[in-house]
Amino acid sequence: MSAKIVGIRGMNDLLPENTRIWSAIEAKARELFELYGYEEIRTPIVENSSLFTRGLGEVTDIVEKEMYSFTDKLNGQPLTLRPENTASVIRAVIEHNLIYNEPKKYWYFGPMFRHERPQKGRYRQFYQFGVEGIGYSGIEVEAEQIFMTKRFWNLLGLQKDKSPSLSLNCIGSKNEREKFKDCLVIFLNDNKDKLDEDSIRRLSRNPLRILDSKNSVTQEVLSQGPRIGDFLKVETLENFSQLCKLLDDKEIKYSINERLVRGLDYYNGIVFEWLSPLLGAQDAICGGGRYDSLMQSLGGKQADACGFALGMERIVNLVEEIGDIDYSRRLDVYLVNKGDEARRIAVLLAEQWRDVGISVKIDMTNVSLKAQMKRAAGSFARFVAVLTDLEVRDKCVNIRPLQKESVLTDKRKDRLESQQSVPLKKAGDYLLKCLMNEDVKS
Ligand code: AMP
Repeated sequence: MSAKIVGIRGMNDLLPENTRIWSAIEAKARELFELYGYEEIRTPIVENSSLFTRGLGEVTDIVEKEMYSFTDKLNGQPLTLRPENTASVIRAVIEHNLIYNEPKKYWYFGPMFRHERPQKGRYRQFYQFGVEGIGYSGIEVEAEQIFMTKRFWNLLGLQKDKSPSLSLNCIGSKNEREKFKDCLVIFLNDNKDKLDEDSIRRLSRNPLRILDSKNSVTQEVLSQGPRIGDFLKVETLENFSQLCKLLDDKEIKYSINERLVRGLDYYNGIVFEWLSPLLGAQDAICGGGRYDSLMQSLGGKQADACGFALGMERIVNLVEEIGDIDYSRRLDVYLVNKGDEARRIAVLLAEQWRDVGISVKIDMTNVSLKAQMKRAAGSFARFVAVLTDLEVRDKCVNIRPLQKESVLTDKRKDRLESQQSVPLKKAGDYLLKCLMNEDVKS
């Protein structure tokens, strides 16, 4: 026997039991984005590697260690599976000149790829929803995007007391950040002996990332160090407080976390994250912020912009734990059949029922009636219809509701009472009526 080929570590199959909740959440997200006037954009999964090395920054974790990159065999071009989608959206905006006359609001959904160490909530292929508001400079965009995420938690029915919490920071302009960075590096060099290995490595390459180190000793050291807020100009602080005021007006709770820097180079100004302790170590569910210089660094004109990305796998976990949306399976009829002529008629009958909107699954195996009935009982159908050559001869079909208990526990009398022999021609109407009655009851 040949060796079994298995999937790649950290890249998950989504089985039907997973895809139901995924589709339900995707539908809610689409509804949300449309409510805010955002339009969907889809970009390819593979891009030129330089898009990410230039866009995200050479010394970010993603570019240094996590990209799936390869060379195109035909022309030697360096290519990369997208690790995130903001750079791709901006590339498309530049390439198609999409903001030539007005700013644009876009949303996307799709898989991203990062070569991280897989664990719960962290995968190598994972899905993100995201939005980008391109060509906007005011904090109204940040406010709107935060309102939007908050509304999403409500649409997903997340229990209010357990729903994600919002962290905010302002990391200022490049200039402001550089001054802070210089001071931070001097301070951390003076305290180098107390830093963890990872932070020492980052000190020369990307010192700001030390701020979100999970090491408690490093955090203790940082608490004595310089604070970004002290390096921000009055206008920057004023802008930040305007956003806070809008959030207060909308009664959205937040905490300001001066250590929140986000991992990518392109961010400036206000950045934010939604966190949930229910997710364990990987507690960030959504992250975003302003990126006013990305468009220019990718060869476009200057355009201020702001966006966020939401991790789908983590939302799914939260919805399963504290959410309330309907993702039940729906099938109206399971059509059991036995005999050659019955099988032929069943295929045609099912089409007639589907014509009027009734969903039907036909058993297309040749197993015994009993085995088919068992499958029907274990299915999620609301009715079972039985067609054997006997029914075909009488031009009728037997229909009965699938009350799981009565089928499974063989309450023969109940079953017979609720069973109806319906003329083939009238069966569609009959089923429609039954389904409507059931809907009213439920
Ligand atoms: P980022 O693009 O790193 O700002 O991430 C935005 C969101 O995507 C995070 O808040 C997570 O919810 C999700 N995310 C990021 N990386 C992963 C990963 N490796 N696996 C699963 N979800 C992720």
